[in-house]
Amino acid sequence: MKEILLCKCGEIVLKGANRRFFEETLCKNIRYRARPFGRFEVTANQSTVVIAPLDGEADMDGLFEAVLRVFGIVGVSRCAVCEKDMDAIARTVREYVPPFLSGKKTFKVEAKRSDKTFPLNSPAIAAEIGGVVLEANPRLRVDVRNPDVVLHVEIREMGAYIHAGQFRGAGGMPVGTNGRALLLLSGGIDSPVAGYMIAKRGVQLEAVHFESFPYTSERAKEKVLELARIVAQYAGSFPVHVVSLTHIQEELVKNCQEDYFTLVLRRYMMAIADRLAHSLGCGGLITGESLGQVASQTMQALGVTDPVATLPVFRPCIGLDKEEIIQVARRIGTFETSIQPYEDCCTVFTPKHPRTRPELSRVLEQQNRLDFEALVQEALDGMQTVRVKNEP
Ligand code: ATP
Ligand code: MG
Repeated sequence: MKEILLCKCGEIVLKGANRRFFEETLCKNIRYRARPFGRFEVTANQSTVVIAPLDGEADMDGLFEAVLRVFGIVGVSRCAVCEKDMDAIARTVREYVPPFLSGKKTFKVEAKRSDKTFPLNSPAIAAEIGGVVLEANPRLRVDVRNPDVVLHVEIREMGAYIHAGQFRGAGGMPVGTNGRALLLLSGGIDSPVAGYMIAKRGVQLEAVHFESFPYTSERAKEKVLELARIVAQYAGSFPVHVVSLTHIQEELVKNCQEDYFTLVLRRYMMAIADRLAHSLGCGGLITGESLGQVASQTMQALGVTDPVATLPVFRPCIGLDKEEIIQVARRIGTFETSIQPYEDCCTVFTPKHPRTRPELSRVLEQQNRLDFEALVQEALDGMQTVRVKNEP
């Protein structure tokens, strides 16, 4: 018996003239994600995408898990496929549906006939297949109002599809349909969630991570790359550009007032990220701040670091509580990695009493004690790039 995945597209259905571009991007993303699980044919048709294995070798369980993480799909059904013939459909139902009926008391059959040349109409198909299920499972009852399980029979152009309902997909829009942005990725809880949320809107990610070796360790960097790999299971593969802030931080310690360290350092981070984003063709920056969460995330603190960026800064976590951000982190699988206790460049040389209501003029005065431009350029010159893959 042949099994396929039937994926229901989300918002892309609404996109009028762009619909083809959205569908093609979605199919391309699915083909790429499906590669580790075998050889498949991926076709878009009537607001659904069908993923069919080309041989008997395919890992359908692995494929299913991966496809649930592809943005642009709102629901996924695992279906048995057979010829458009009532005997073949009855045979397939007897063979395919028992696992979905175990422990259930009531059911109903819903039929849909998009191929109008099929001789029976939808109610007739549902009635006949309902009879087949009852005959094979005499303890079951039909309940059309509130059944424990709904069996679907869909007569489509390519064949008859039988399934027992839909699993929720990742939603959002296909990655690659909404531009490219640079994620400032730390080892914390918030920035991986921020990257996930913006990628969900169809944005292709690039990431920059700031380290402060030897004050931060190789293990701390590994942790960040691991977080990037988990985000890539949704966002697709993306490069992580690693930039060292060591020299900048050493200069800050020597020349600037302690309570301004963090703010001036954040201006460096924004400047470096902004310049890097332009060179990579990104249209925006992504960060993980939540308003008021820490001293550097008050409105005033954001007000003195934000103006450094010439590109829009997307902060999807800005209105979320920590608990809400953690919920997303747990759901996407980054939480356990994020809470591993490794140091971050922002936590080495942290001032004891950071400024929570800084004034821009004072911050600039501190910043200008150093050669800002030269230090930004030096940091970019020493950048290294690691490409993370979305392998399961
Ligand atoms: P996170 O949980 O994302 O680390 P946080 O609550 O620790 O956030 P901050 O340390 O103030 O907050 O950082 C705010 C944002 O700045 C982060 O969400 C991230 O986007 C960026 N950022 C912080 N540290 C780094 C770093 N080492 N490399 C890249 N970006 C960073
Ligand atoms: Mg952090």
